[in-house]
Formats: sequence, C-alpha cells, structure tokens
Amino acid sequence: MSTSKAYVENAIVDSSRLANYAVIQETSPGRRFSEPSCQTRTEFQRDRDRVIHSTAFRRLEYKTQVFINHEGDLYRTRLTHTLEVAQIARSIARALRLNEDLTEAIALAHDLGHTAFGHAGQDALHECMQDFGGFEHNFQSLRVVDKLEEKYPDYNGLNLMFDTREGILKHCSLKNARSMGALGKRFIDRTQPSLEAQLTNIADEIAYNNHDVDDGLRSGLITIKQLRGVELFDQHYVDVNKRFGELTEKRKTHEVVRRIINELVCDLIGQTKQNLNLHNISSLEDVRSLNIPLASFSPEVKSKNSALKSFLNKNLYQHAQVDRMSTNAKMMITELFKQFFNSPDLLPDEHRETAYIKEKINGASGVARVISDYIAGMTDRYAQTEYNRITNHNRPTE
Ligand code: MG
Repeated sequence: MSTSKAYVENAIVDSSRLANYAVIQETSPGRRFSEPSCQTRTEFQRDRDRVIHSTAFRRLEYKTQVFINHEGDLYRTRLTHTLEVAQIARSIARALRLNEDLTEAIALAHDLGHTAFGHAGQDALHECMQDFGGFEHNFQSLRVVDKLEEKYPDYNGLNLMFDTREGILKHCSLKNARSMGALGKRFIDRTQPSLEAQLTNIADEIAYNNHDVDDGLRSGLITIKQLRGVELFDQHYVDVNKRFGELTEKRKTHEVVRRIINELVCDLIGQTKQNLNLHNISSLEDVRSLNIPLASFSPEVKSKNSALKSFLNKNLYQHAQVDRMSTNAKMMITELFKQFFNSPDLLPDEHRETAYIKEKINGASGVARVISDYIAGMTDRYAQTEYNRITNHNRPTE
C-alpha cells in the first residue's frame, strides 16, 4: 500500500468518529487550486498550520484588542484573544463531535483582517474607504487568506479549504456576496454555514466578554461593585464568595470568570444538541440549508449574556479613557490614509508599485484598496511609527 493511500484511509477512519452533520474533508468542495494531499495531516490541520505560519497571524501579537498594546503587559492582545477563542471553540466542537481541526483553523484565522487599535481603527478605515467599497475586518480576514499573503510559488493567499473560508466570512454585504460565487451564496439565500463556523462565532463572543471582564477589572476601569449588578457575574460571585470568602478578590474574580465561561459553554452545547434534535438534523446539508443558526444559547442564558455585553459596552468600551485612545487612533488612521491617498509616493516601494498597477486597472479605488490593505496590516506601533514618519509629528497615543 502506498503511503498516500494509507493517509487517505486514515483520514476516512478519522472522519467516521465525527457526527453525521460535521464537515468532513472527503465531501468538501476543497481548495481553489488543487494540491496533492499531505501524508501526515488532515486538510484542515494543514489550514491551521498555514494560518499559524502566516505573516498576518504574527502581527496579531501587536494589535489592540481593547487596551493599547503598551498600556500593560498582561492585557489581551488580538493574538491571545485568538488563542482563547480557539481553545473554547475546540472544546465545544469536540463535545458535539464536530470537526475540531476545521474549528481550530477558523478560530485562528477569524481576526487576521483586524486593523491596529481595535474597533476604532476599523471604523476609521471604513470611513476613509466610504467611496471605494468600505472596509470590514471580517471581509478583510478573508482577503488576507485569499489574496494578501505571499507564501506560495503558484498563487497568492494561503489556498485554504472552502469550509475554512466559509467560517472566516461571518458577514458579507449582498454586493460583495454576489461577486464571491459559492462562498457568497448563503448570504443571498439567507442560509447558514457549517456548525463549526457557527460555534466559532459564539466562542469568539464567549472569549471576549469574559476576558474583557478580567482586563476591565485589572485596569480599574470597571469594578466588582458595578459587575454585581450583572446577573451572570453576580450569581457566580455569590457562590464563590460563600465557598471561598477568605480568598483575595483577584483569585475570586478568576474563579467567577471560569464559572461564567463554563456556564456559557455547557449551555451552548446543551441547547445546540436540542436544536439538532428539534430540526431532525442528520447531515451537513441539513445544517447549511436552514435559515436559522443551530448553535445557540438557551433563551435564559442568551438574555443573561446580552446583559453582560451591554454592561461592557456602556462601562468599558465607551469609558472615557478607552474613548480617548479611540479618538487618537481614529485620527492617526484617517491621517495616514489621507496622506497616502494624496501622495502615493509616500508608500513603501512594494506598495507604491502595486498602487500604480492597480490604478491602471481600477483607477482611484484601486489605489485606495492598496492603501487600505497596507494600513489594515499595520500593528499598533507600526501605525504609530508610520504616522510619525508621514506627518513628522511625534504625538503619543495617549
Ligand atoms: Mg475575535
């Protein structure tokens, strides 16, 4: 038996352990450019590895989640957020007998298109790109893995599997969807992606709500007293306090956050199993043809989770200190775009050449997209350095 045949048989054995509604590589639409299979890894393990070895993945280390990178060494960055999403998503996938390799690949790639300075950076870039199709970090993540990474001799991008790309593209305008063939079809038909994609989306939310509670408390921008007004936090705080009253607040907080994550994960698994039964789901086609997602919290937990989200929105993301950082970040991104757009000669050589090529094909919007890709790829500190170089100012981020 040849080695490659042995691999194929192993992969089939591996897939047989999965639920009949899981994604399996044997029936996947596969890659855009066909490639020989790997002798040691499944196709989705290969996708995960391609993401980990990408340049965009390494940049996540220096991109803001909520707190600017230099504000403290212990806050989440876009990279540690991504790793927490992957951990939570994999646990859920395994419990539901879904494809864990695919789930991990989607989770690790889900924020590759995020700009520097968190949501403030994305909002500013979107405004700059208003006349040229806008900017959306989710769509940009797909652009990174489909077009912008330059790692392979035969094609641009990472040539990921259809199902990984489907999971990365969480939202998409109808206009964009129409230009994307099979990948855009579900946005037009209003149907759903795989369960692996659905659960990773919720794992993202579980991760950021909880680590933002932790980071928020660490920063002092929110307090335990305030959080006690949030049911999901308070119910666990009361239990932990009763059982471990002697512990420091810091240790108690970690226990509370751990319990909240556990409640959300267990509820999501239980409710999703119920939904699968309710809708008689017996195949991946069943999952994809529904017009509602199957991965969901129970109504009770959904409402408790929404209350936590609203709390963080009001008290952390819109906190005056975070807001000051956001205003400054928006100013820098906007100025960078303006300066590069008015004088493309200011772009580094490689991007300048691409801008001139794209200008011949798509005019001003071609140039704008090259600039947008360049700015979106910047880490926080690189954006600051470029801003200083371009404007010859030296304004701090705070
Ligand atoms: Mg995320």
